[in-house]
Amino acid sequence: MTNHRDLETYGKDFPTPDGRFGRYGGAYLPPQLVPAFEEISNAYESICHSAKFISELRRIRKEFQGRPTPVYHCERLSNHLGNCQIYLKREDLNHTGAHKLNHCMGEGLLATFLGKKKLIAETGAGQHGVALATAAAYFGLECDVYMGEVDIAKQAPNVTRMRMLGANVIPVTHGLRTLKEAVDAAFEGYLNEYETAIYCIGSVVGPHPFPKMVRDFQAVVGHEARAQFVEMTGMLPDIACACVGGGSNAMGLFTAFLADPVRLVGVEPMGRGPKTGDHAASITFGSPGVLHGFESLLLQDKQGEPLPVYSIASGLDYPSVGPEHAYLHEIGRVDYESATDAEALEAFFMLSKLEGIIPAIESAHALAWAIRYARQNKTGSILVNLSGRGDKDIDYVFENYGCGEEFVF
Ligand SMILES: *Cc1c(COP(=O)(O)O)cnc(C)c1O
Repeated sequence: MTNHRDLETYGKDFPTPDGRFGRYGGAYLPPQLVPAFEEISNAYESICHSAKFISELRRIRKEFQGRPTPVYHCERLSNHLGNCQIYLKREDLNHTGAHKLNHCMGEGLLATFLGKKKLIAETGAGQHGVALATAAAYFGLECDVYMGEVDIAKQAPNVTRMRMLGANVIPVTHGLRTLKEAVDAAFEGYLNEYETAIYCIGSVVGPHPFPKMVRDFQAVVGHEARAQFVEMTGMLPDIACACVGGGSNAMGLFTAFLADPVRLVGVEPMGRGPKTGDHAASITFGSPGVLHGFESLLLQDKQGEPLPVYSIASGLDYPSVGPEHAYLHEIGRVDYESATDAEALEAFFMLSKLEGIIPAIESAHALAWAIRYARQNKTGSILVNLSGRGDKDIDYVFENYGCGEEFVF
């Protein structure tokens, strides 16, 4: 593991100017898009230090998003499990109900500083699309969201939300008509209008500078949580944990604690279990590869094609992961663990029934790991990033598992 001194300057050292975290990251782009991403990168590097940008982003976070979100001590849950104390960073209380708005507002503000007229993105389950459509409405920008036809049919409420917010949802009708094709179509759309539009990625993934930019915009989560936790308890938590899809909510939490003596745990979706192949545990089972313009750990076949992935949580089923996570795994600073669908469901019902908080099924993965840990270790404290609220999941959970009557806590 890297020593403590290195981690104190880590934020300045990584990524390198060409977007590398060790061997991971970079920007693998079609030549026509190289200038567009360079423009974003150069603009971000100067704007992120400007007092005007920083104060405007602070005002938006306070007045529009409702930040800071609280840290909450789960006393009933902790007592039920033993004596390990579980705390939640309540990103479910951020406007629109999840952490994603943190980077979408940053990307939207950057677009207005650059004089762009339109935000472009793809979306799978629609969560990123809704957050971006919200940001576009706030800033008075146009918004094109590319979405596979199959996903449009599955995620009707999010499609309605995006349209109500004024976004154009553009159906992608080729191939499997899901996220992968939507990414390709969004890139193509961007290629045609990069002078007046900006591409907005939904996690700490994609070509440089997005893994860095999205991390920086999400870091508010960890900086708030660290100060709040110290104020509440007089100490740092023993462990901070978060679920990892692309990895933005986890990087948001971890960044503030990298130089601290705090164990950091990223929780990957193990779906139906490691032996079934139905999971999306890209760090646990992946190998180095390039997808969507960046190098990272990738679930891939022998030809280097991404493998089909699965999780009960549609926000976590991505065959790769942010390059910074691959690097933090490599240097041993963050432990990557996993939780299955079944464990996430138990956590979902446990938090609902014992604390009155219905979590997003994604966030329930982080909580499931904390619950497992608390059952085995009867001391210490864990800060869990509750990345979102579960309203979007209740219909699916109810149809398949009822109201959790079999779970008695
Ligand atoms: C999208 C989403 C995630 C997964 O994305 P990350 O980039 O890994 O954070 C997790 N939780 C919620 C609530 C989400 O909407």
